[in-house]
Amino acid sequence: MIILLVEDDASLQRGLLRALEDMGHQAVPASDGEHADTLLSAEPFDLVVLDLGLPKLDGLEVLRRLRNRRKSTPVLVLSARDRTQDRVHGLNSGADDYLNKPFDLSEFEARVRALLRRGQGAQTRVGMLDWSWESRQASIAGEPLVLSAKEISLLETLLQQVDRVISKETLSHRLGDVDMAAGDNTVEVYIHRMRRKLASAGLEIITVRGVGYLLRETADAR
Ligand code: CA
Repeated sequence: MIILLVEDDASLQRGLLRALEDMGHQAVPASDGEHADTLLSAEPFDLVVLDLGLPKLDGLEVLRRLRNRRKSTPVLVLSARDRTQDRVHGLNSGADDYLNKPFDLSEFEARVRALLRRGQGAQTRVGMLDWSWESRQASIAGEPLVLSAKEISLLETLLQQVDRVISKETLSHRLGDVDMAAGDNTVEVYIHRMRRKLASAGLEIITVRGVGYLLRETADAR
C-alpha cells in the first residue's frame, strides 16, 4: 500500500514514516499543504494521513481540493486542535477518521489498518481462502478456519500483500502487537503453523532467504 504522510513536524513525521514502513507500506512524506496537493493531483494513494495545521496550505483546504477532484482516497486527519468544532468541520470536509495529538502509535496503526481495510472492500479471496476484513475471520471452501489471535495478525499481514515479499521484521513487529516478547524465532514457528493451516486452501508461504516471506497460490492451484 502507498500512503501519503502530510506532517510538518519533522520528528513526528520521522516516527510515523517508520511506523508505516514497519507495517509493510510505502510512505511518501510531504511537509506542507501545497506539496501534498501537488502529489495528490498527480498520483493515486491508498491512504492519506493529513495534519491540519500546515504551512502554505491548510490541511482542511488540501482535503477540500482532494474531494473536489472526486477522489475517494481514505483520509486520516491528525490534529492538535482538539475542539469539537474542528472535528465536525474535518469530518464534514470528507475526512474518514480523526486522531487528536498526542496519540499512541498503536492507536495510529489501528486506524491506518482499519481505513486500508475499508478501501480494500469487505472480503478477500485467495485460492480457496475467504477472508473478511471486517470480522477478521477466515474460511476454506466454506469451512471456518480456527485461528489464534497471533495467527490472525500474521494472516492479515500476509493477505495485505499477496505475491509480495514481507520482511521478517515486519511480521515480527506485527506479532509483537499481541505479545511484546515475540522474537525472530516466533515468526518461524507461526509461519510453519500457518503453512499447514493454509495448505488445503491451495496456498503456500515461500521463504525468501534473508528477506522475508511471500504468500501465494500454489503452482497447481493457479
Ligand atoms: Ca502541524
